[in-house]
Amino acid sequence: MSDHEPHLVIVDLNASAETAPADRIRVVDPQQPIITATDLGVTRGDGVFETFGVVDGRLQAAQPHLRRLQRSATMLDLPELDLETIEQAVRKVIALHDPVPFLQVKLVVTRGIEGSGVPTCFVYAFVGEDFDLRRASGIKLVSLDRGYRSDVAQTSPWLLQGAKTLSYAVNMAAMREAQRRGADDVIFVSSDVYVLEAPRSTVVARFGDDLVTPRTDFGILEGTTQVAVWEILAELGHHTEYRAVLREELDRADALWLVSSGQQITPVIELDGRAIPRDDEIGAAVLKRLQARSS
Ligand code: PLP
Repeated sequence: MSDHEPHLVIVDLNASAETAPADRIRVVDPQQPIITATDLGVTRGDGVFETFGVVDGRLQAAQPHLRRLQRSATMLDLPELDLETIEQAVRKVIALHDPVPFLQVKLVVTRGIEGSGVPTCFVYAFVGEDFDLRRASGIKLVSLDRGYRSDVAQTSPWLLQGAKTLSYAVNMAAMREAQRRGADDVIFVSSDVYVLEAPRSTVVARFGDDLVTPRTDFGILEGTTQVAVWEILAELGHHTEYRAVLREELDRADALWLVSSGQQITPVIELDGRAIPRDDEIGAAVLKRLQARSS
């Protein structure tokens, strides 16, 4: 764990309209318990979250994260969120934290204590895993069947594919399965064998001159980092595309990356035991520009 103290802020989402945004935020001791045993976030994983990246104190993709938070909340029939106050809370925990090269901020909204109808919301900043190591070595992936068809978001919206819900037990189980198979991470594949996403990141592949990511209507989370990477690649003069990508196509990829707010962009060096070429020129150029961004 890091030597830096984490910081925690509770957001009052039930404040009266007269309460100023700054008064809806309460800084609390991160060592003290703040969740009640009957909170539906704990008992049912019923809620949504976001994880922001902060590079040298600069918050990345603030609005895309907040918009996605509201989209996820709407998919779960949670009330309209007070995004202005939530953003202030995010900026507050960053301001409280020691200056570090890379910080993560986790924002959680649960359905709240059972029967209360009032969501619980808290935000904390922490120094997490050092992703430099993964970026330097590259990572090995396995593809795992998620068991849903690629059109699941359309046929079965109650499965909440594409929402960033607190129910990540399946994602973490997939990461452990990867470890059992000697890999670092996972690419989920649909039952009709299309590439979906990783448990905590988005897949980006290069085929010749085309930079490709799976279509977001395939029941995957729209990645804020992938959207930023697409803007950067366009600035660099590359052709980008959202499309259906079959798992077998990745065997012919000229490069493959996972992108997310935490790891930023990590090269993949192996998929299901087969070597994947690295493109460190594009990888390094994108990383540099990603890390220079702020919002
Ligand atoms: N896909 C999944 C399932 C995720 O959990 C995440 C991030 O946590 C991503 C993609 C990448 O999203 P972002 O780039 O906004 O961090």
